Amino acid sequence: MQHNDSKAPKRFSQHPVKYIFVTGGVVSSIGKGLAAASIGALLETRGLRVSMTKMDPYINVDPGTMSPFQHGEVFVTDDGAETDLDLGHYQRFTKANLAKRNSFTSGQVYDTVISKERRGDYLGGTVQVIPHITDQIKANIITASEGADVSIVEIGGTIGDIESLPFLEAIRQFRNDVGKENSIFIHVTLVPYIRAAGELKTKPTQHSVKELRSIGIQPDILICRADQPMAPDVRMKISTFCNLPKESVFEALDADSIYKMPIIYHEQRLDSRIVELLGIWTAQPNLDEWNRIIECIERPKHDLKIAVVGKYMGTRDSYKSVYEALTHAGIANESQVNIVGIDSEQLNASNAKEMLSCYDAILVPGGFGDRGVLGKMAAIQYARENDVPFFGICLGMQLACLEYARNALGLVDATSEEFDANAKNKIIHLMESQYGVRKKGGSMRLGAYDCIVRRNTKAFDSYHADRVSERHRHRYEFNPEFRNRFEESGFIVSGESPDGTLVEMMELENHIWFLGCQAHPELKSRPIAPHPLFRDFIAAALVNSKRKEGV
Ligand code: GLN
Repeated sequence: MQHNDSKAPKRFSQHPVKYIFVTGGVVSSIGKGLAAASIGALLETRGLRVSMTKMDPYINVDPGTMSPFQHGEVFVTDDGAETDLDLGHYQRFTKANLAKRNSFTSGQVYDTVISKERRGDYLGGTVQVIPHITDQIKANIITASEGADVSIVEIGGTIGDIESLPFLEAIRQFRNDVGKENSIFIHVTLVPYIRAAGELKTKPTQHSVKELRSIGIQPDILICRADQPMAPDVRMKISTFCNLPKESVFEALDADSIYKMPIIYHEQRLDSRIVELLGIWTAQPNLDEWNRIIECIERPKHDLKIAVVGKYMGTRDSYKSVYEALTHAGIANESQVNIVGIDSEQLNASNAKEMLSCYDAILVPGGFGDRGVLGKMAAIQYARENDVPFFGICLGMQLACLEYARNALGLVDATSEEFDANAKNKIIHLMESQYGVRKKGGSMRLGAYDCIVRRNTKAFDSYHADRVSERHRHRYEFNPEFRNRFEESGFIVSGESPDGTLVEMMELENHIWFLGCQAHPELKSRPIAPHPLFRDFIAAALVNSKRKEGV
């Protein structure tokens, strides 16, 4: 890579933040995000303020327009950014304040630089990857790290990808800018077990590190995803060939729960090594909460089966936060939550009972478009009529309203504007103010909104608060024209926007637990602090399971 010294950025003056850059090698999906999040969790147990950032090398300006099949769920921040699902790991493992600035893509970086160029900011100059793109990446890293003691920055993609080169060049320069004592490189890599040879192989890791070093980055710490425990000679070999002390080589075996990872790393003294390399003096780590979680996961008292009826069932990542929030709720109820994804296209009114009666509760998550909605409504009707706990999230709530309108209020043609713009009974519609916003994503309600919770409702029993805030990502809303008819017949509004114009939560009276919310509460659930709605949904599932057993 060409380097033009006259254009080299200025050395940053005495920046107090310490930086950890996390890269991945050999294969994708190696668990960098989880490693970064676990490190964040461990540093927080030492009293450090952590910020977590993901830099993604793809060109999309945000992942909002990518298919959940391909890219997993879209994670939304309070300030309305549609981000990568790795931010969900960060949210679940740390208290880091995640905002727009904590996730950026190549597309965004180029967009900013090109706008500056059009504005004439570089007048007379040639705009280049180095230094203009790399400088913008460095500036974004600094903005994302404000207020933190330690800033953890994960670089998406795998070493060797052409598209991640500007990011790697930027972090290489960054280390020179802030100094060795203020930044470290952690590389997450694979050490596969080759059955025919009967041993773990270190060569892919050696090659990945060699590749990194060829761009000028020598990792300070290696985290090796291994299929089997690494014997001392394997560790020694990696240490020798990758040019780092063996105390800096860590192993990550597959764990049965991701929430064990912070403790697994701590037992290998990963956090001690990091603070030592960064020269940070910290309090002794307090791991009580993480130990308590592991205890709950390992010794559940009950076993529950929950059906998640959706349409992106090929990969668990499409509903990642929902699945995790259910697991957290299980921890709160001393229950093992077995989640079964059910493809809504396989469901209809005549097979719903047969397919769903073995579950203790049913959840319908968010979604877009009309594929599979009839099956979801069949599941909702089954839950409503058979007193089975039901939780509808976003599209799940909207469909609960349609199902109720069609089957309980007799509005047989009830629908959503999303499915039929010209229908008469649009129970779910686009608000007046949203018309005319044409740009993709432009009309979406994104980010945190306050909600007033009505007293004497299940929602209030859960939140124990009059005013709460949840994150949204949707276009359509409940049509207030129909509000009275719903409420009079027992499907009541239990949460609304502070000005009373938007319906945020609805629930059925006289039902064990049947609640829908327009927001995405799963985005705020943590194993240490399970979300109250998920917690009580699972509590209702537990009551239902005991009732089924006749206890
Ligand atoms: N498609 C619905 C809407 O846009 C619901 C979106 C969602 O479930 N996130 O309003």
